[in-house]
Amino acid sequence: MLALYRKYRPHRFEDVIGQDHIIDVLKNAILARRIAHAYLFSGPRGVGKTTVARLLARAVNCTTFAADSGEGRVAVNLTDVSTKLVAERPQPPVNFPDIPCNECENCKALQIGFTLDIIEIDAASTGGVDEVRSLREAVQLMPLRASYKTYIIDEVHMLSRAAFNALLKTLEEPPLHAIFVLATTEPEKVPDTVISRTQHFRFRRVGEPLIIQSLQTIAKAEGISIDQEAVSLLAVFADGSLRDGQSMLDQVLNASKKHAEGAVVRALFGAPPAEVIEQFLGALLRRQTEEALTSVTQVADSGTEMRLFLKLSLRDLRAILLLHLAPKLAESSLAAYGKKEASFLRELKTQTSLEDAERFYAGLLEAYDMLHTFALPHAAVELAIAKLLK
Ligand SMILES: [Zn+2]
Repeated sequence: MLALYRKYRPHRFEDVIGQDHIIDVLKNAILARRIAHAYLFSGPRGVGKTTVARLLARAVNCTTFAADSGEGRVAVNLTDVSTKLVAERPQPPVNFPDIPCNECENCKALQIGFTLDIIEIDAASTGGVDEVRSLREAVQLMPLRASYKTYIIDEVHMLSRAAFNALLKTLEEPPLHAIFVLATTEPEKVPDTVISRTQHFRFRRVGEPLIIQSLQTIAKAEGISIDQEAVSLLAVFADGSLRDGQSMLDQVLNASKKHAEGAVVRALFGAPPAEVIEQFLGALLRRQTEEALTSVTQVADSGTEMRLFLKLSLRDLRAILLLHLAPKLAESSLAAYGKKEASFLRELKTQTSLEDAERFYAGLLEAYDMLHTFALPHAAVELAIAKLLK
């Protein structure tokens, strides 16, 4: 079965979620035929860097729009049909068009896997020396069918020093028909000499509301009902990565047949049940040290992911803080909770001062940040409790 994130991968720039600041610029560049030789796409994993790179590779070859680079050079297609189309240069429709069009010869060819003109290199797997070396020669050859040959180098920061040097030489004198898209989660590891040759686009984490929306749309298309709590939890666990959210939805749909709810999501991903978090937060905010520590021990013993336990606790503390500071905003974020949980949080807020809400939020946030430094993850939480309740 096709993974959901593949099945629902965007086919047009318009369908890319949460990266409008980049999409708008790229679309305008395509329409104005100002195409750069090298792009750097940086940002967290699973937010669409490779997807946008592939769309760009198709868009620059889409005969409906991109025919030349804006520098007076016309990239000619090698097939008769598309050469004619380029020569005629059809004007884009008045309504803002879908890019790429997915209708023209080139779009269709590139879409069905005629990919010899889109070359993807995964720097993480090899260090890339051989690939980049052979790229230096291959890049000089004209594209087989498209106007542009596009090289997508994923995780480019993993290239070895030798590979970077080879790449730099190519970037210094790129042939007119080549475009490079370098993608990375760690742009600070890419040499400045390489960065300075690229147009740098910074991809963002995808916000929870957008992830929720996307997952709901997919679930609906798959004929599965998923409740608000379940889909909100997935958005929390996805941590800004749309792809992770979609992969998790995949698992949920496989596990739940027709209807998916919060409890299934929690069980599936090792997150604690709602009651456990409520017990813990209630004890913490009421300063019941023994009970709070007991909750943590139970969580640790049950094999629950401490990271998820803390994350969900933080999400609740944030809601309590917002109920104090920004009630309207709080209500909209409480809409993502189940009814019982939401009323528990409203009740807990009335028993908690703003100062405490702030202090506990900060204390657990610190524990969350420190989690990876502790050999025993529960120790981070226990120390935080000791500090907060002493
Ligand atoms: Zn097209």
